[in-house]
Formats: sequence, C-alpha cells, structure tokens
Amino acid sequence: MDISSQEIEAIVKQVLSGMGGTPTASPSAAAPRCSTCGDRGVFENVDDAVEAAWKAQRDWVTNYKVEDRQRIIEAIRRCARAHVEEWCHKIVEETGMGRYEDKVEKHLAVINKTPGPECLTTEAISGDAGLMLEEYAPFGVICSITPTTNPTETIINNTISMIAGGNTVVFNVHPRAKRVSADCLQALNTAIVEAGGPENLITMTREPTMENVDKMAANPKVRLMAGTGGMGMVNALLRSGKKCIGAGAGNPPVIVDETADIELAGRKIYEGASFDNNILCFAEKEVFAVGSAYDGLVHEMQKQGSYLLNSAQTEQLVKIVLQPKKGGGHEVNKKWVGQDAARILETIGVKVPDNCRLAICEVPADHPFVLVEQMMPVLPLVRCQSFEEAMDKALIAEHGNRHTSSIFSKDVDHMTRFARLIETTIYVKNSATKAGVGIGGEGHCTMTIAGPTGEGITCAKSFCRRRRCMLAEGGLRII
Ligand code: NAD
Repeated sequence: MDISSQEIEAIVKQVLSGMGGTPTASPSAAAPRCSTCGDRGVFENVDDAVEAAWKAQRDWVTNYKVEDRQRIIEAIRRCARAHVEEWCHKIVEETGMGRYEDKVEKHLAVINKTPGPECLTTEAISGDAGLMLEEYAPFGVICSITPTTNPTETIINNTISMIAGGNTVVFNVHPRAKRVSADCLQALNTAIVEAGGPENLITMTREPTMENVDKMAANPKVRLMAGTGGMGMVNALLRSGKKCIGAGAGNPPVIVDETADIELAGRKIYEGASFDNNILCFAEKEVFAVGSAYDGLVHEMQKQGSYLLNSAQTEQLVKIVLQPKKGGGHEVNKKWVGQDAARILETIGVKVPDNCRLAICEVPADHPFVLVEQMMPVLPLVRCQSFEEAMDKALIAEHGNRHTSSIFSKDVDHMTRFARLIETTIYVKNSATKAGVGIGGEGHCTMTIAGPTGEGITCAKSFCRRRRCMLAEGGLRII
C-alpha cells in the first residue's frame, strides 16, 4: 500500500495529539496555544490571521500535491454535510433571517456542486515555434469578505474554490453572523488538519471590522481581495488599489410574456421569490407581465399560496418595510429583510395560512417595491401592454447591476432580445433564477457571483493567476 508523505504526517500528528504531544487543531482544544496562535483559525488580531494564512500557503503549495488538495476538499465536504443542520439553525438564530429548510438546500448545493482543482485545466499550444503551456497558479493569501445573507454557505464555497487553486484565505465575515461563521471555520479547519492538511489554511478575526479590511488591503502578504455583499462594500474594494473580485447587489427582474406557460411561471416564480425569504441576490425581485399573461399569472401565484395585497395595503406596507433615504427615494428597513411573509403581513393586520410564503401586489414600474432591492418575500408585479415595454421597464429596475434576470416565454426571439438588452451574468429561461447557480439547474454552484469585476459564476479558476511557460528551442514537443 502506498502512503503519501502528507498521510504519514497526519498519522504522526494524530498519534502525538493522542499522547498529549504536538496539539492538532481539534474541536475539544480548550484554549489557543499562545495569544497570537489563533484557535483553529480564529484570531484576535488581523495581522496574526494574515501571517498564519501566509505560512500555511507556503506549506500548501510546497508540500501538498493536487491529489492532497482533492482529498482535503473531500474532507471539507464531509465535514460541512455533517454540520448542515446545526449551522442552518444557528444562522436563523443569529441573523434572524430566512427559512431553515431553504438554507439546508443552499448548503447542500455549495457542498456538492462547488468544483475543486479538477476545473483548473492546463492549456497547451504546440507549433513550429515550440510548446506553450498556460496554467492556473495561486495568488497566495486571499482576503474574502462574506455577507450576512449566505454566511457559512459563502465560507464553504469560497474555501473550496480558493484552496483548490493553492491559495489560503483570511475571512472578514459579516458582524451579524460572526458566531456561526467562526463555528464553521473552526470545524472546517479541524477537518482539514485531520485529513493531513496544514493548520490555518483558512483564518478569520473573531471581531470582523472595516479597519481589518483596510489593513488587509494595505498588507503586501494579501494578494487578492474578494468581496461578496452590497455595492457599498464592492465599491470600497474597487477603490482599495489592490486586485479585487467583487460580487455585488442585484435586483433581478422577470418577464412573463403572452406565449409563456403560465402555470409553470406562477409555480417557479413563487418558488424562487419565496426561497429563503428572498434574501438571495439572484432571487426574483420584480415581475413584468405582458397583456393577457398578467391576470393568469396572478391567479396561478395565488393558487401556489401567495397573498394578493390591495393598493391600500401595499402603501401601508411601504411605510413599514421601507424608509426614506437621505437624498431622496427609499431604502430597505433592515429589520424586515428576510422575514416570513406571515410576519410582514401581520404588521398591517393580515393573517395568512401557514403555506403562504409570499405577498404579491400590482404596482407601477416606478414604485419603490420595484426599484429598491428589498430582500423580503414581497413581490411587486407590473402590468405591461407590450413585450417592448416590459423589457424597457425591466432594464431600469435592474439598475445596470447586470446581475440576474429571467424570462418565461416560448418565443425564441423574445428570449434572445431580452438577454441582449439586459446583459446579466445569470439569465434563466423558464425556471426559477436559482437554477442559474445550479439549484434545480445544470452547472456548478457558487455564492459569489462576480458581475462587477467579470468573473461571473466563480470557481477555482476565478481565484487563480494564469501563468505561461514557453518551451522554445529544444522544447518538449513530441511531433
Ligand atoms: P453588506 O454589504 O451589508 O455586507 C457584506 C459584507 O461587506 C459584510 O462582511 C460587511 O461587514 C462588509 N462591508 C460592508 N461595507 C463595507 C465597506 N465599506 N468596506 C469593507 N467591507 C464592508 O451586505 P449583506 O447585507 O451582508 O448582503 C446583502 C447584499 O449582498 C445584497 O445587496 C445582495 O444582493 C448582495 N449579495 C451579492 C452576492 C453576489 O454573489 N453577487 C451574494 C450575496 C449577497
């Protein structure tokens, strides 16, 4: 039987830890070994977190083979699967947002469908002038900023994608999800070490702060900043002067035209817009229905369980879930982000049955429910006279984020025209938009959809540098 050097090292570490020798990172470890060593990846000070991840990265690229990366990533998937239920309960408890059962589905999607090193395919050109190879190389230490809406989902997804390419990661998690994020990071680090990997492959500071982000942007040992969250954060990263990958806000419009399968549209829009109480950046946020499709769609959505607000109720709700924004317009009142439809409707005296996961309302295209990225299960519907009107209004509602959009139609010309106009990273035809990240659709999954910087549906490739080796005279061509 062949045993790799890393496997031997892992066995030795386990034996030593059992003898009270060199401690491995284990969940039962009562206290960190020293004030700057961290506790299974969780550090008090950001410079220590970066230093530890930097040392781990040197070890990771020098002493571990691709098959070791595969083995350790499989251990991460197993560990995450074993903790899914625990983390989903903790997220609901800590962030107070979303639905437990949908969070389980999101976790399983990132655990099972985030690609590892297998997607890092080498390219070669062989010709008269020699042999050219291009390969995916690590950046080094990556700072990853994670959102409150997908806290551990993004940690699992980014960990797999980033370490697959030979990087290590320092997370700056959302303060509103810092406890569950630390639990997840420590469990993953434990699994990594138990599978023979280095300590501190992923690190974080116990107290995430903006100052820490600035320090990482200024630290030459951090080679790439990756941010998943709102546009304020993405724009701050873009100004940092360091290479960055930004995954920002969306406000996905849906068009339902007169050729659409209305039963399918009603079912899939209800499913997508109510999924995890609509806190996903790629979830359906407003619908533009054309001509006769409108009434049928409302009927189908009511059949699915939606509550149809009248216009007085709609305006009452605007005053509760939105608030005036400095400089004009509205912004979301964060207290209501990701709450259950029943709880939101209660505020205006409406009681709905348990199966009601979504409120819908008819509004004009310039209504704040259309223009504000609400992230709650209140879906505005706009009645349009023509497909052209629906496209123009959808384009305005999307705000140029170029994030996600969808269409229900059987008209290929309509499908193509809307795709060309809206230019979103994710474009879904005849299904819920979550199909665009592999949840009920083909293709790999990510929780970091990097529209602003262009990497799109990120995977290990997105977090690597391309390096070229040119073998010229006397090169290795065999033909
Ligand atoms: P948020 O912008 O409030 O926070 C995201 C992260 O950025 C947090 O860790 C926060 O601490 C940090 N942050 C905020 N301002 C910052 C600044 N100036 N400098 C550095 N860091 C800063 O977002 P949220 O409420 O956690 O998440 C919801 C938002 O994120 C929505 O707009 C949603 O569309 C977007 N989102 C996008 C994606 C994507 O893949 N494109 C995925 C999830 C969420």
